[in-house]
Amino acid sequence: MAKKQTILTFQRKAQYLADGGSKCPFCGSDEIEGGHMEVDGTTTWQEVTCLKCDESWQDIYQLSDVEPVAPAKDEKIAKFFVMDSNGDTHEYKTETAAVEAILDDFAEAGDNPVDEVWCENADGHKIMLGVNWKATLTPI
Ligand SMILES: [Zn+2]
Repeated sequence: MAKKQTILTFQRKAQYLADGGSKCPFCGSDEIEGGHMEVDGTTTWQEVTCLKCDESWQDIYQLSDVEPVAPAKDEKIAKFFVMDSNGDTHEYKTETAAVEAILDDFAEAGDNPVDEVWCENADGHKIMLGVNWKATLTPI
């Protein structure tokens, strides 16, 4: 015999949403278990089952906000430094500016004008870089 389906009344729904989806909307138990989040286009849902009364329902999610992806503070590179073969250190705000300066010096000097290249993150942590002549800097 098929299990009798309990009606999810408006009142039960409202109570469930007020509780933040933490208690079974049928019996009020907090022994509920969610399955995988399913996403189809702009609709996201999750099947939830009550371990006490064995009812199942779907939580339906809506996009509520958007935020830029912020890198962790220690991953943010604050400055680039290039020490030339004379021992002079030059500071650059971006990798592009540092690479352009290195390439300009290279074109002028005709040989590797760079002694050391490094960058510092927001915490002042120093990361040594190797110059590759495809004009990018890579950690070494
Ligand atoms: Zn229940």
